[in-house]
Parts: sequence; structure tokens; C-alpha cells
Amino acid sequence: MTVQELSKKWYEQFNVYATDLYPGRYTPQFCQELAEQAFEVRALAKEKGSFIVAHNYQYPELQEVADMVGDSLGLALEVKKQQAKRVDFSSVHFMGATAKILLGDATRVFVQGDPSVHGCSLVFGTNHRVIELWKKRHPDGVCVTYVNSDVRTKAMSEYISTSRNTHQVIARAAREHTGQILVLPDKFLGAVMKAKAVSELGVDPERIEIYTTPFQRFHASCYVHEKIGDEAPDRALEEHEGAELLLHPECGCASSCLYKLSQGKLPADRVFYLSTEAMLERARMSSAPSFVVGTESGMIYRLRKELPDKIFHPISTQAVCGYMKQNTMERLIHSLRHDEFEIVIDDEADPNLEVIEGRVIRINRALAQKAKAGVERMIDTK
Ligand code: 13P
Repeated sequence: MTVQELSKKWYEQFNVYATDLYPGRYTPQFCQELAEQAFEVRALAKEKGSFIVAHNYQYPELQEVADMVGDSLGLALEVKKQQAKRVDFSSVHFMGATAKILLGDATRVFVQGDPSVHGCSLVFGTNHRVIELWKKRHPDGVCVTYVNSDVRTKAMSEYISTSRNTHQVIARAAREHTGQILVLPDKFLGAVMKAKAVSELGVDPERIEIYTTPFQRFHASCYVHEKIGDEAPDRALEEHEGAELLLHPECGCASSCLYKLSQGKLPADRVFYLSTEAMLERARMSSAPSFVVGTESGMIYRLRKELPDKIFHPISTQAVCGYMKQNTMERLIHSLRHDEFEIVIDDEADPNLEVIEGRVIRINRALAQKAKAGVERMIDTK
């Protein structure tokens, strides 16, 4: 395919599937630039031996240029399977750091930006001291920590989980230990996964503690999903008759929605809490003609492209993650060309924090080693 052909294809495709998501973005001129950049990305990836992965929330062009697109669990599983010489992430920093912990020194891992700006509100909201104090109050407890966390929080945790498998990880922790299961840091995700672990996997609810803090500044949540509030599910189902509602478990409406479902005030056969990848599976197997999607806008491009015969409405046009959208074709080219930012594991690095030094983000080896056990449990829990 020539640059011209790719530019034309993308112009049509992005304006069919993403025009309401990113109004005014995909002009003919911009698509021409993106197509030229795509050729450069693929040439650099070949030269550097890089396997490029993109999270479902990325801009369409980054999804298209990647070797693989998926949710946080899918990306971790795939990079482990590939054992490439190098992996470049279009995602947020913690996904790259999680991969590096799994892959070790054998694979070079790159992210497009430094973690101080290219982070995640869940990671920034987490406070290690508050977690330590919470753990002290539950001395027999084991932590099931969401993958949206920094390496130090992961190192304090026995289990790591993603939105796709937290309920199964809770059930595993309940089988392997006798004490409390401490689920952190997102209370919305915690509530949904606790409900699933209890109802689908028979875990005693008394054993599950969900992290909460009275201090607003230590409250950790996804700032995009949290805004999807209590009235959103009712409104969506009213506006789109016959549609299914696919909600990410980080949504702010999580607890009220669980309550309404238990009271029969929302139709249980039309409301689903799902990770991004599970949304695709649900939409694929469902006979519903349309879906309201409660997650970051990037996912809607993927759903529409993979299932063009079904209709997908965003629950909100404001659901755009400023951290995920730090990734661009220019930054990917920069990262491939200049090897920046590389995540490295280093014996001498600060034992508590991931530190940026020039083009490198350093993770202390002992800390990475401690975090690895929980991350391995994340990827091998079915
Ligand atoms: P997934 O587990 O669906 O990839 O969600 C990741 C995420 O960061 C949501 O905010």
C-alpha cells in the first residue's frame, strides 16, 4: 500500500468510526501526515526489532499502526508470549512498567513520555503510607491490588489484578489464604468485583475489605470513569431503547447501579460491568443491535471497527483520558528513533520510587522482584 492509499483509507475509516469521538481531527491533510508517519513508524520498528502495542483507549492511528491492540491484561499476556527484543507501548506508564517487571532485562521496554505527566489518576491518588496503615489494621489480610498502581504499591501486594480478572483474583486469594482480602485502591471497581466474586465465585463477603480513606487527597479513582455518575445508566437506557449498557467497573455509578440491579430497577439482562476487552466479547456474542459504552472514547473506535454491523453510542462525549491521549504518532516516532523513555531495572535505583534520569526511568531491582510475584499471579489467574 502507498502513503496515498493509506491516507485515503484512514480518512474514510476514521471519519466513519471516530468523527463524533474526535470532532474535526481527521482532515484530509492530517490523515496524509498520519499515513506518512505510519510508514516511518513501521520502518523504525523493523530496524529496532520492536513489537508495538496499543491500549484500547489510544487514538485510531495508534491502534492501526500497532502490532497488537488490547486491554491491560491482554497487553501483558501478549508481550510475555512474544519475548521480543524490544516493546514500545502506546498506553500509560504503569502498563509499560508492569511489562518490564514481567520481562526483565531480556526485553527493552519503552513508553512515550515520563510518568510525572504520562500517568494515571489512580496511580497519582494512591498514598503508600495510607496503605501501610490500612494493612496494619488488617494484619492477617492479603492485598489484591489493581494493576493501575505504581511499582512500590505492587511490591506491597500479594496479588495484582486487572478489570478483567479482579473477581477471579479475589476468589483465588480467598482460597489460598484464611484472612481478609484487601482490595485496593479503586472503590468503584472494588465494589463491582466484590459483587461478582460473591455471586459468581461464592466468596464470603465478610472477608472482603475495600480500600476507602476519609482524606479526599488520598482518594484514588479514574477521573474519567468517576464522572460517569449515578444517573448515567438510567438515562442511557431511556435514550437508546433496546440497547445494552456496557460499563467499565471504574465508573462512578458502580455502587448505585449494583443497588438498582439488585432491586430490579435496572434490567439485569441489559446492564454489564466489563473490562474493555470483555466489552468487545459481549458485543460480539449479543443479539442486541446497539450498545451504550461507558468507558474512554478510544474503545468505541475499536468496537465500531471490529463490529461494523452494530451501533455503539458513547455514554458521554467527555470520556477522554488526557493521560492516554498523551500518546501520538510524533511521540512514538521520537521514542523509536531516540530510545526515549526506556524503563530499566537497576540494582542501584531508589528503593522506593521510579525515578526519571534523562531518557531512562529506573526501577529498583529488589522492588521489581517483590512486585513480580503479584504480577505473575495476575497473568496466570483464569
Ligand atoms: P482495562 O483493564 O479494560 O484495560 O482498563 C484499563 C484502564 O486503565 C481503565 O481505566
